Amino acid sequence: MTEESIATAEGAAGSLAVAQGKCQGHGRCYAVAPDLLTDDEEGFVAQAGQVLPISVALAEQARAAADACPEWAIDYRVS
Ligand code: SF4
Repeated sequence: MTEESIATAEGAAGSLAVAQGKCQGHGRCYAVAPDLLTDDEEGFVAQAGQVLPISVALAEQARAAADACPEWAIDYRVS
């Protein structure tokens, strides 16, 4: 591993924005990204309205969460 790739592996891979007001409580996002997202007491995603920094290690979960949401409530941006 080169110095550059080590720095990339330890740095942020992107960000995950969870829109406020779009979640319908399908529960797909936190099922595929349990290390990033959780549910509230009513089954809605608990991180609505937040933008989460995503590490390289959690990039796949972030991508899976964005792909899983049928309401387009989750936006994963690679930095
Ligand atoms: S998959 Fe989408 S609609 Fe379902 S809980 Fe997650 S954010 Fe809400």
